[in-house]
Amino acid sequence: MIKSLKTFDLKDKRVLIRVDFNVPIQNDRVGDDFRIKAALPTIQYCLKAGANIVLMSHLGRPNGQVDPELSLIPVGETLADLLEMPIKFSDDCISEDAHDVSLSLRGGEIHLLENLRFHLEETKNDSNFSAQLAKHGQVYINDAFGTAHRAHASNVGVTQNFSHKGMGFLVEKELQYLSEAMIKPTKPLTVILGGAKIDTKLNLITHFAGIADYILIGGGMAFTFLQAQGKDIGNSLVDPSMLATAKAIMSRARGKSKLIFPTDFVCALSMDNSQQSEIHKVGEIPDHLMGLDIGPETISHYSEIILASKTILWNGPMGVFEVDGFHTGTQKIAERMADVTVNETITIIGGGDSAAAINKFGLMDKVSHVSTGGGASLELLSGHTLPAIYSLEL
Ligand code: AMP
Repeated sequence: MIKSLKTFDLKDKRVLIRVDFNVPIQNDRVGDDFRIKAALPTIQYCLKAGANIVLMSHLGRPNGQVDPELSLIPVGETLADLLEMPIKFSDDCISEDAHDVSLSLRGGEIHLLENLRFHLEETKNDSNFSAQLAKHGQVYINDAFGTAHRAHASNVGVTQNFSHKGMGFLVEKELQYLSEAMIKPTKPLTVILGGAKIDTKLNLITHFAGIADYILIGGGMAFTFLQAQGKDIGNSLVDPSMLATAKAIMSRARGKSKLIFPTDFVCALSMDNSQQSEIHKVGEIPDHLMGLDIGPETISHYSEIILASKTILWNGPMGVFEVDGFHTGTQKIAERMADVTVNETITIIGGGDSAAAINKFGLMDKVSHVSTGGGASLELLSGHTLPAIYSLEL
């Protein structure tokens, strides 16, 4: 059993929360505060319940070295603005000073620790380092879904030191949507997959080929499947090492899941030529052109399936959505997802690029759930156990 935050008595307790503040930093400022905002419900609940809070996170990959560019100071500033209260900060997560600050917290104060990965012991899941981190709190809460697929000191090792441990609201919501909704989805279940590479989503496709009613393929990965079917794909992106795998996936899905591929594409000479694009049907893409977005016929076919679905999981853009001119397929699919959410279809966006896309189109709060963790959501959706979640079991 994993305890939910709501079950703890937090009055005057020091709560150590592992959050995921791994956000982009540009010119010493937070570039995108999505992950910080996602942690607010847990932080605000703890404050209301009369707790003092110690927050810990990693940022980037400093590989055990102190790197001022990867300091959490800008994150502390953004958090202070969002919460409209001062935040205490320590420049080393396990120093004596940092422990003293935590011990002296009173009356609902917040203490943010510097980047955990300034210590190599964090990613090594070192037990001494874990024990040093544990000294900051009396109750441990994990609300960092984005790192839950990694076994590190702050999310796995540290839990050995606590009898009072549990999950924050963000982790609980992620598990509810990504795990529960996927174990017993309201049918029809549609899985939409896109992006450039098949290999990172291989486990996911294999898992759902046979479970989902429909699997809609878009993005660059579609061409590997189309070529495996002997279709002419012009100069489009293809991964020759995945052709056999693509065939195996198609035969696994046969008779159980309808695996559906684009029938037309927006094509151009390259990603830099969005001004001179042409629509071509699959099999008729000229040799010198590459498909960079799904075409209008595909959008309308995929939209019909979305409308007929009751649970939809989406991972990976339908085209090169970052470039104006190749963004339409991804935008239209995002809009259809938002439309059906109003009619109580469960719509779930896996993390990473699809989350960035839905954010770009301003539809973040128009779908049921946008995951904060790319790798972690892929792992969980592929049916794997996440070590940091498992460590919270009592
Ligand atoms: P992935 O990391 O595998 O999810 O791939 C995401 C990337 O795939 C995005 O940056 C898109 O620009 C890219 N992408 C999507 N469709 C295509 C395509 N048809 N050709 C090349 N790249 C694509």
